[in-house]
Amino acid sequence: MERVDVAIVGGGPAGSSAAGAAARRGADAVVFEKGVPRADREGLGPDSTDAAGMLDYWIDLMDYRPEEIPDDVILSRLDGAEFVGPTERVTLSDTGIEASYDGFGFAFHRARFDDWLRAEAEAAGATYRVGTAVRDVETDLSGGHSHRLTLADGDEIEAEYLVLADGPQRTVTMGVLDQFVPDGRSMRDHLASTTANHIAYQEHRRFPADVFDPELIKFWWGLIPGHTAYPWVFPNDDRVVRVGLTMPIGVDLDRVRNRDAYDLLSDEDEQVPPGRVYLRRLLEREYGDRYDVPEDFPLVEDRGKQGGTEAYPISSTRPIESPTAAGVAVAGGAMGTTSAFHEGGDHVAVRTGKLAGELAAEGRLSRYNDAWRDAIGEEIRRNVAMADLVRGYEPADWDRTFRTADRLLDRGGTGLVEALTTGVDAVKLVGAYKRRKFALRNGGYVQFREDEYAV
Ligand SMILES: Cc1cc2nc3c(=O)[nH]c(=O)nc-3n(C[C@H](O)[C@H](O)[C@H](O)COP(=O)(O)OP(=O)(O)OC[C@H]3O[C@@H](n4cnc5c(N)ncnc54)[C@H](O)[C@@H]3O)c2cc1C
Repeated sequence: MERVDVAIVGGGPAGSSAAGAAARRGADAVVFEKGVPRADREGLGPDSTDAAGMLDYWIDLMDYRPEEIPDDVILSRLDGAEFVGPTERVTLSDTGIEASYDGFGFAFHRARFDDWLRAEAEAAGATYRVGTAVRDVETDLSGGHSHRLTLADGDEIEAEYLVLADGPQRTVTMGVLDQFVPDGRSMRDHLASTTANHIAYQEHRRFPADVFDPELIKFWWGLIPGHTAYPWVFPNDDRVVRVGLTMPIGVDLDRVRNRDAYDLLSDEDEQVPPGRVYLRRLLEREYGDRYDVPEDFPLVEDRGKQGGTEAYPISSTRPIESPTAAGVAVAGGAMGTTSAFHEGGDHVAVRTGKLAGELAAEGRLSRYNDAWRDAIGEEIRRNVAMADLVRGYEPADWDRTFRTADRLLDRGGTGLVEALTTGVDAVKLVGAYKRRKFALRNGGYVQFREDEYAV
């Protein structure tokens, strides 16, 4: 049987970053990626579904220098973000967090980003097996740790270390971790709660020149019901825009309070409309007075996954720690780093992947949970606190938040993070955001700790 030092399940940003870091430190690292066909990539590769926006300080969190990102990965350099409520809107042109990148951020080509990370890993000596899924993993803890991976084609590989980077669907992660969850419980109880599962849907559309703003990303809040449910617009090159949304699965419209306040719902809706209907209504709401939407905003069929569209299940769970004593590190979406606001996860995936690969190669994986908390803990804490606070928000709350944020901006000198949290804070009154953030200190956002595993 083939034997390797580090086996990595999943070839997205977390997996490729783990492979590169491990190979750079001399380990024999192999990535197993099931392989997903996409219209915007030749041959099979990782899933690569993404709105693909990067904020300035996220580049530092990835532990890259801005000049290391290849030019062809960047599609559009951004000046700011606009947040739109039912009637209020606010534009922020500064994240307010120190960053080496000169600018607000950029929109990028996710498939090229993933291909770049893979090329870096291969240049460092990692190998890829693309096109066959990992079907099963069995861990043997007698005399250290070893993991036997079984692929869908029947091949078997043994690895000393295992990095789980199979994304938020966690098809492999769940089964591996269940080996170490005590008392007959399952990791599913923590990571797959039906109240925490979302769906993302996205379309690539060419916008008319006079409404295409290459420098602004936009988010609409309070237009569709559900916790962290919102549409967005991300400008790319050549007037192509990713119009997408995320929403929880299973919202019961009969239980939505003030349903008339949600602009993208119609009186006739008996259940939550599909993503494509919501997006059509969004474009009609914004541009329908001046344009024939289907005609003037055509789908760009050679982009995205298929026919100009893509869908992806995502998860809003909180992060878990890894059972490092078993030689296992969970990284990126699989560990729940894309926690609260789903469109922000590539940076934390890259960083956790790098740390997992590096520490596995050096035989110091026991450092992993502390290392990722040191590197990205503050970012996760901020996101989890914000998401907790806006639970139960209705359209009028979003308007009040954006009005407050806008007033703060008028007074000058505030960034995205401060303006939004202070806006939310003002609606909730007296320091709620700060209190929530304080309650999550010392890793309080972690939902399964290392000492809870039976290893
Ligand atoms: C619609 C949408 C918009 C987003 N927008 C942004 C954004 O603007 N900015 C941002 O930073 N983040 C964004 N995110 C989040 C970001 O995409 C994730 O945080 C990131 O992809 C996580 O990387 P990952 O490597 O952990 O997982 P993934 O990218 O999900 O990669 C996991 C890989 O594992 C493979 N895999 C799964 N099971 C198996 C198996 N059994 N065997 C082998 N391979 C397997 C999959 O094919 C996949 O390629 C967005 C996400 C979505 C869905």
